[in-house]
Amino acid sequence: MDQTKIDALRAQPAAPFVHLIDGKHVAASDGGTMDIISPIDGQVLTTTARGTAVDMEAAIASARAAFEDGRWAGQPPAARKKVLMKWADLIEANALELAVLGVRDNGTEISMAIKAEPGSAAATIRYYAEALDKLYGEIAPTSGDVLGLIHKEPVGVVGAIIPWNFPMMIGAWKLGPALAMGNSVVLKPSEAASLSLMRMADLALEAGLPLGVLNAVTGEGKVVGEALGLSMDVDVLVFTGSGGTGRRLMEYAARSNMKRVYLELGGKSPNIIFADAPDLDEAAKVAAAGIFRNSGQVCVAGSRLLVEASVHDDFVAAVTNAAEAMRVGDPLRMDTHIGAINSDAQLQANLGFVETAKAEGGQIVTGGGRILQDTGGYYMAPTIITGVTPDATLAQKEVFGPVLSVTSFTTDEEAVKIANATVYGLAGGVWTSNLSRAHRMVRNVRTGVMHVNTYGGADGTVPLGGVGQSGNGADKSLHAIDKYINLKTAWIKL
Ligand code: ADP
Repeated sequence: MDQTKIDALRAQPAAPFVHLIDGKHVAASDGGTMDIISPIDGQVLTTTARGTAVDMEAAIASARAAFEDGRWAGQPPAARKKVLMKWADLIEANALELAVLGVRDNGTEISMAIKAEPGSAAATIRYYAEALDKLYGEIAPTSGDVLGLIHKEPVGVVGAIIPWNFPMMIGAWKLGPALAMGNSVVLKPSEAASLSLMRMADLALEAGLPLGVLNAVTGEGKVVGEALGLSMDVDVLVFTGSGGTGRRLMEYAARSNMKRVYLELGGKSPNIIFADAPDLDEAAKVAAAGIFRNSGQVCVAGSRLLVEASVHDDFVAAVTNAAEAMRVGDPLRMDTHIGAINSDAQLQANLGFVETAKAEGGQIVTGGGRILQDTGGYYMAPTIITGVTPDATLAQKEVFGPVLSVTSFTTDEEAVKIANATVYGLAGGVWTSNLSRAHRMVRNVRTGVMHVNTYGGADGTVPLGGVGQSGNGADKSLHAIDKYINLKTAWIKL
């Protein structure tokens, strides 16, 4: 990728953003705006509309009307496919512009963002576009005097609440299957990073998505997110974000129309290193990348390193070397490995976890503090803390920052026990040359995804979803489609 192109894009002022409601760009009903602060330098980048409940209701009404008149759901599958394929092409054609805008907003290093954001979003939209005319209903195995048909129908209006760490990728995980199945969508990007996703929504209209099928409202979670959650006219709510908000969404559903709620929440994912790993140096490098890329602001980050005692010291030294070799800094430089922390509040929370870990007996091997303060941005050195007991705060709570907790173990059983000793169950990893041990660990560690002799990078063909308090209802793969359909039975007497 060309650094001069990136520099040219970053030099352009970012225009103010407003809602997309019923195919029109509109300001907040009361004219309110929010300053968008870039974590790169702490400066105001632009503004977005500060949405109101009135705005959200207008967006939901538009989505409902679009669904009811069949302007999208009623189109032949091949026609819907064409629009979504075009959308994927447009995302790809505008990939660098989208990625730079997103990085200015959320601070992810561009080398990661370009692949994980527009690259992955386009691939996801294309995956569901290609699938949509290959999905059949079913005929039930009934007796001969009846015919039981099972239709797969769109659910209606989908509310999608998106976080700030990978807005386009995660947005596409929801939008791809929701739109492919003929639903209308109301999108609520995070106030901490909404710009690239709002721009991506515009491209859907450019691709020919009928007006009103996709609406997007910016603003505070507790205002517009709550209005979406409490709506009587939203059929399904899909969410990626914190456990606290996930809990609220379930409450909103219970207090309103009992809409279906699918949650992808946090994790405290164990990365388990056995002494018989095929290549401990490689494992150390991948373990460092698995927690420190995007400053650890990754739901599946391998934030708990569990290391077999016999190789503990050497392995920690190798991960420390790998971490210290990663360049932290300006996320818009191609040679940066670790960009900015999304916000000052997130940075302060990370530093708070480090203090607590120290107070609870953890030893800081590297990092531990804020760096590059003179830039005005929010940066933190990759931090490794050893001697973390399984019940310590750092082993139990998700930091969502560049902080790796290290604990040693001696037996397979102990490794499994520690790995499973949190309320979470999103991801994990195991490094071993022993095939049986690898499969046993996959079976026994309670997670949605286990990596073996690697960490991260599972593509769109496999589901990603948590167990326990990491959520329910996986994103990605054909399995994700189930969230966006109703099964309807036709029972026909012959
Ligand atoms: P994080 O702490 O990682 O930002 P959140 O769960 O707060 O995670 O945010 C994820 C998404 O949830 C954002 O789009 C945010 O606006 C939204 N959100 C936050 N609070 C609420 C709420 N009370 N109701 C609905 N959505 C919310």
